Amino acid sequence: MRVRPGDITRRALAVSSIVLAWAAAAPALERVTLRRDATEQQLAGRVLVEAQDGGLLLETPDGILWLIQPDELVRRETDQAAFEPWGAAEVAQRLLAELPPGFKVRQTANYVICYNTSDAYADWCGSLFERLYRGFHNFWKNRGWELNRPEFPLVALVFDSQASYAQYAAKDLGPATRSIIGYYHLQTNRVTTYDLTGADGLRKQQRGVSSAAHINQILSQPAAERTVATLVHEATHQLAYNSGLQTRLAGHPMWVSEGLAVYFETPDLDSARGWRSIGAVNRVHLQRFRSLLARRPATALATLLTDDARFRDPTAAPDAYAEAWALNYFLLQARREQYVQYLQAGATLPPLAQRDRDQKLADFRRAFGEDLARLDEDFLRYMQRVR
Ligand SMILES: [Zn+2]
Repeated sequence: MRVRPGDITRRALAVSSIVLAWAAAAPALERVTLRRDATEQQLAGRVLVEAQDGGLLLETPDGILWLIQPDELVRRETDQAAFEPWGAAEVAQRLLAELPPGFKVRQTANYVICYNTSDAYADWCGSLFERLYRGFHNFWKNRGWELNRPEFPLVALVFDSQASYAQYAAKDLGPATRSIIGYYHLQTNRVTTYDLTGADGLRKQQRGVSSAAHINQILSQPAAERTVATLVHEATHQLAYNSGLQTRLAGHPMWVSEGLAVYFETPDLDSARGWRSIGAVNRVHLQRFRSLLARRPATALATLLTDDARFRDPTAAPDAYAEAWALNYFLLQARREQYVQYLQAGATLPPLAQRDRDQKLADFRRAFGEDLARLDEDFLRYMQRVR
């Protein structure tokens, strides 16, 4: 996620003021009728969280999360049938019914790509996502953590133009749509983007491109690096939330969620075999991190660990992202085992669980030791040597 007004995370968590009781592990299918915007809707899914006031967090078999407020709930009953996630074919069918005419579907091993671009562009996306998927899972496996296969097919929507994308995305992004070239949505679990060869004047001609070689040629030029990095960043969020590394709508600190996405975001468009750039130094964020060192207060580390608001404030966000990248870089290079243990503990957070400032600090100290000042010294010394 990039900084944007009306961030879905904040809207979704508005319900956290209600007291939450974990639903017992309920494989049963729950049939729910709700009234929203004056119309009744029927849903069937599994209840992830049941609030004491009757509010529900329901997950439907396509992997979409529904926050149902108590006053929206008309009826609910438990079915005899078990909850069963949909496969790729069912998800694809539903997407085609939902999107405007002209969309097609490409399936890859882990993704369902719904697109109205050229077939070649959809293939380019599928191949990028699958290589990232392999790179991501191998990265953690090499650090002793075998992540889960996704329970639901990973959905990517790819629009042919900024205009058609903006029309779809407005309900999620609000007025920021123009500046955001792609995003991962926690509730729908989808990555949404458009044909990036048409973004930022990268393509010299008006017409779309239809060959894989031409797409690669356009998107591997240096001017396209940050654009493709944004797409990889968003796809990394989706992988983290679908592999057991993070839980959707749980209160993972932003320095973890965003720092990891930034750590993985460098594109690798040349390699057919592996994603060689994972863990490479992110020049943009390193430079910014260096430039903020002169005015970095002694409390900077504790602030980064606990203050998520900086990531959503457009003026503070660039520094927060750079610091989050740097801390993830340091921990993954120099405190690898402790960081994996820290992340594994965080992976058990249930949806809608919040961690306050003190809990976040306690979680961090449990993994890395009591002495934050000492760790901060090590961190800064390490980052000075990074080239
Ligand atoms: Zn992000």
